[in-house]
Amino acid sequence: MKADVIVIGGGTVGAAIAYGLAQRQQHVIVLDGDDRDHRAARANFGLVWVQGKGTNMPEYQLWSRRSCERWADFSKGLLDITGQDLHLEQKGGLVFCLGDAEFEARRTTLQKLHNQLGGEPADCEMIDRSELERIMPGVAFGSEVYGASLGHRDGHANPLRLLSALHAGIQRLGGTIVSATLVEKIQSNSSGFTLGAGLENYVAPRIVIAAGLGSQKLGALVGLDVPLRPQRGQILVTERFVPILPLPCSGLRQTREGTVMIGATQEDVGLDAATTAVAAAKLSTRALRIIPALATATLVRQWAGLRVLTPDGCPVYAQSESHPGAFVALCHSGVTLAAVHAETIAQAVIDGSLPSSLDVFHQRRFDVPEAA
Ligand SMILES: Cc1cc2nc3c(=O)[nH]c(=O)nc-3n(C[C@H](O)[C@H](O)[C@H](O)COP(=O)(O)OP(=O)(O)OC[C@H]3O[C@@H](n4cnc5c(N)ncnc54)[C@H](O)[C@@H]3O)c2cc1C
Repeated sequence: MKADVIVIGGGTVGAAIAYGLAQRQQHVIVLDGDDRDHRAARANFGLVWVQGKGTNMPEYQLWSRRSCERWADFSKGLLDITGQDLHLEQKGGLVFCLGDAEFEARRTTLQKLHNQLGGEPADCEMIDRSELERIMPGVAFGSEVYGASLGHRDGHANPLRLLSALHAGIQRLGGTIVSATLVEKIQSNSSGFTLGAGLENYVAPRIVIAAGLGSQKLGALVGLDVPLRPQRGQILVTERFVPILPLPCSGLRQTREGTVMIGATQEDVGLDAATTAVAAAKLSTRALRIIPALATATLVRQWAGLRVLTPDGCPVYAQSESHPGAFVALCHSGVTLAAVHAETIAQAVIDGSLPSSLDVFHQRRFDVPEAA
């Protein structure tokens, strides 16, 4: 099979780029691996989020901000093409602080992030408990809740609807998704790339490696060595309630259907996506310190997924120097960044080069000489 562009990986990152390519009249094929693969896209919390991003790279903060600004149009475009409502809300988002020490530490972190951007107006503010109670009149907060940071650009969406709409959008726009197809070989010659998956070959002048944790192995075949590590995140889900949380919070978010999601852990346990009682206890304990009434909630689900993390936690976008036409796209905020992936990254693949504003995200930043 031949295409203008082949995207390897049909998770949120690959699907968003493929959707953007299809919107731009490219004939795109998505090759998506096996159901037993680790799939971060099916495990996430659904935040469309800026606050706290980019402590070591201000450009990541700006990139997240830009994507959040584009999300409403992006979501509307998917609705128009597929009829699927992504349940997007962007009315702000909270990070709760238990005690004054957490509150002050949060203030300092956000102030540093703000200072990195020079004269830009602040995205976030610290709010005290009484303001929190005013914003969330339906919640009786625990006695330790001191206040919160409020990110004005933050929001949330339904991540499974996003993935489903992206897949539907790609196909409505003439693209092809080939599931259960693990790319094992990548060969290149002057006219492009031949990808081997099982007995089939797929040919295109451009390829995008967006295979999550599978990208490290594939990237090495075309000179795009990206160090990656998995980080486990576990999430709990309660039964449905009437709306009580008008804003999503990092750690607690009420879905449009009424369930409350509690999460997510950050665990370095390698490629282990098991759920544990320890994590359930830890997540529940903090949630109850914030909203004690959740103690009587019935938990209906617990799941775990593996985040796709680079050494500094920031995204990687690069084109191979040894194999021009081969791109890689990786991040651990695939929902937040879906809008810029569909717009800027898709356009860059068509143009044959990434804009210089994205140089900072090249993986060469990890090429540090070994100590003698
Ligand atoms: C617990 C948790 C909470 C999260 N919360 C948020 C959040 O609130 N907001 C947010 O923005 N992000 C969040 N994320 C991150 C988000 O889910 C990921 O950024 C995103 O899903 C990564 O998508 P991906 O497409 O890179 O990888 P994946 O979803 O892992 O997809 C990779 C795909 O590549 C395929 N593949 C692998 N190897 C091959 C191969 N050789 N050939 C063909 N296909 C291959 C796999 O089958 C898979 O379908 C969270 C993640 C986790 C785990």
